[in-house]
Amino acid sequence: MTTDDTLPAEPGSTGPEESPAEQVAEPARPEVVLAVDVGAEFFQVGLVTPKGALIDRLRVPIETDVGPESHYTALANIVTEMSERAADHHDVVVRSVGVGCGGPASRGLEAVSPMGRTSWRDFPLRSRVADLTGLPVFGDLDAKALALAEGWLGAARGHADFCAITVSASIAGGIVLDGDLLDGESGYAGHIGHMIVEPGGRRCHCGTQGCLDAEASGAAIEVLTGRPPSEPTYEIMQRTGRLIGRAAASVCNAFDLPLVVVGGSVALGFGATFFHDAQVTLDDHVRLPYSRGARITPSRLGDTGPLVGAGALGWRGIRRSARRAAAGAAAQPPNAR
Ligand SMILES: [Zn+2]
Repeated sequence: MTTDDTLPAEPGSTGPEESPAEQVAEPARPEVVLAVDVGAEFFQVGLVTPKGALIDRLRVPIETDVGPESHYTALANIVTEMSERAADHHDVVVRSVGVGCGGPASRGLEAVSPMGRTSWRDFPLRSRVADLTGLPVFGDLDAKALALAEGWLGAARGHADFCAITVSASIAGGIVLDGDLLDGESGYAGHIGHMIVEPGGRRCHCGTQGCLDAEASGAAIEVLTGRPPSEPTYEIMQRTGRLIGRAAASVCNAFDLPLVVVGGSVALGFGATFFHDAQVTLDDHVRLPYSRGARITPSRLGDTGPLVGAGALGWRGIRRSARRAAAGAAAQPPNAR
């Protein structure tokens, strides 16, 4: 990953006038990305530097039983407040907005319908945030954003090939291959919640049976045990670990990955019992010369992961835009104006 590259300062930020020889240029203000996370229970915003430091954050609970515009107003209020804090308290320039959001969502978060508390259905999140801030907005699924964050500063730092899985109320993931986060045709590459881990198992909301999400997500555990996943039995922690290990093994074998990073409140809450059984199951099922020895490890970013991931999306978006602009200029004939 190259996300810790520091981008050049925005030109022209030192004043509107042409510089006379005697004028001393003021130093350019540091730049940040405004990170936005639409989580299961909170809207969160933060400021993320080019090196991934989260220098400020705010959050507000997502209210239930309110309409789509009320959700948006709650989010817009903290986005605006954070923009003001960037200028007034931190003296930094916001270059772009990065947004992570739970699915379902169309590519780039043009239309989002996140499962959970919000009443958003095909809500045009990217364009609304762009209208609000006047900045470029780069959005993606939250589990893919977390994969970027873990590769940038977390448990997969320095790895070009790994999978990140989030096990919370639902299960999602992202795959980084040859240093790039995979997207796929619709942007759902790495969404491993619908891998079959129990043939003929529980009916999944996707319409089939035995999906990882239907067997091992927080929602599934609550139905299976009659208890919230925060009050697990020893057996359910072991079983959930085995199922995640089974899915992780298939991903490692298919994509030639040595590492799987697992985050999310359910997995991290289950802790060592979960991770032990996940690793034992993974070991049982990665027997190929290239996949043997694959490891499963907890996310290291804790509750900063979603905002660092959203920040990574924002910085990546700026770099990609710059590269596209440079490629477009290079493609011009030499005498083009
Ligand atoms: Zn499914």
